Amino acid sequence: MKMVMCREATRLMSKRLDSPLGIQEKMTLKFHLAMCGACKQCNKQFQLMHEAGRALESQATIPSSDTDDGTDDTP
Ligand SMILES: [Zn+2]
Repeated sequence: MKMVMCREATRLMSKRLDSPLGIQEKMTLKFHLAMCGACKQCNKQFQLMHEAGRALESQATIPSSDTDDGTDDTP
């Protein structure tokens, strides 16, 4: 199997959050994570960030207050 660089591994981690990876990509990432401690940590961070992002999204249901003040039509 081809040796993947950290940059490619990181790209896959990021991509995985948006859409599921193909089997080849999954294998590539898994293989890299198995031998790269730095990317393992990075992967953890990605997952934490993703979960935090989801939590924020569910919280972001604050109604937008559209107040039409300060715009008096003074002749
Ligand atoms: Zn790496």
